[in-house]
Amino acid sequence: AKDTGKARCLIYSPRLNGPSEHDISLEAAMFQAVREGEFLLYYQPIVDARTRQIQGFETLMRWKHPTLGLVPPVRFIPIAEANGLINLLGAWALKAACVQLRQFQEVAQRALYMSVNISPRQFRNDKFLDVLDDALAFSGLSGDSLVLEITEGTLMIDPVHAEAILVKMTERRARIAIDDFGTGYSSLAYLKRFPISVLKIDRTFIKDLPESSKDAAICNTILDLAKHLNLSVVAEGVETEEQMHFIESRGCHYVQGYLTGKPMPAHAALAALSEKTYA
Ligand code: C2E
Ligand code: CA
Ligand code: CA
Ligand code: CA
Repeated sequence: AKDTGKARCLIYSPRLNGPSEHDISLEAAMFQAVREGEFLLYYQPIVDARTRQIQGFETLMRWKHPTLGLVPPVRFIPIAEANGLINLLGAWALKAACVQLRQFQEVAQRALYMSVNISPRQFRNDKFLDVLDDALAFSGLSGDSLVLEITEGTLMIDPVHAEAILVKMTERRARIAIDDFGTGYSSLAYLKRFPISVLKIDRTFIKDLPESSKDAAICNTILDLAKHLNLSVVAEGVETEEQMHFIESRGCHYVQGYLTGKPMPAHAALAALSEKTYA
């Protein structure tokens, strides 16, 4: 395969000891699943922390297997990343999410955005910009309604290449979010060098708030940093009113978590959009 880079494989492969038998049968089932159309998309609201009005959604992939039931993405995304199926699945998800957002915008009659996860392998794929252009052209969505979520790890594989792709993404007016911010191998220099708009604070820093003084310090620091760099911040995994209060009082503008909405199918997201949920 052209996709070499042994170091990358060692660092990013979730199965350092080779695939388990279980993974192999899951892998075979995945190809079948693509043909059978068993993959679908859920949407989780991203809300304004103060008003709790929905600003956008994150697209989260689901696999409904006829006998295994709902297979969580932590089980199948790493396999798809390893065997390359992520390029196909990711391209489909991006296009379908753009089409879906058009409908959300039409029903809600206001600006809403869609945030879509881009895996390291997808980001590095030669065809990625074509996939992005195709999704925008097919859906008729304007690029500024799209947020593309990448992790620090994705940027670190090949920063020179990453920078070039990010610039091309922003030429399409898509915004870039750093997913799971603070959990990867990162260097703050990248925030200066790359055209990044959004930081997503990982759930691991939120879950023990407000009791954990270390997590509080980390969140405060991320929020300060973002403010000075003029970046938006989304706090992920907010489950309680106490966490919501903490994060909002520290100036975090956007929240995504079970408290304000779980990932849900499109029809439920449409229903959530027509609810008026002002805090
Ligand atoms: P992620 O991108 O960090 O997505 C956020 C995860 O946190 C989602 O898990 C979401 O359901 C979960 N979450 C949100 N709020 C809460 C909360 O309040 N409490 C708890 N306990 N969890 C919360 P999910 O959907 O299982 O996805 C897991 C991971 O799988 C994602 O993490 C992402 O890395 C990957 N993933 C999912 N869909 C896609 C996709 O379409 N493409 C790619 N490349 N990766 C995907
Ligand atoms: Ca994400
Ligand atoms: Ca995340
Ligand atoms: Ca995560």
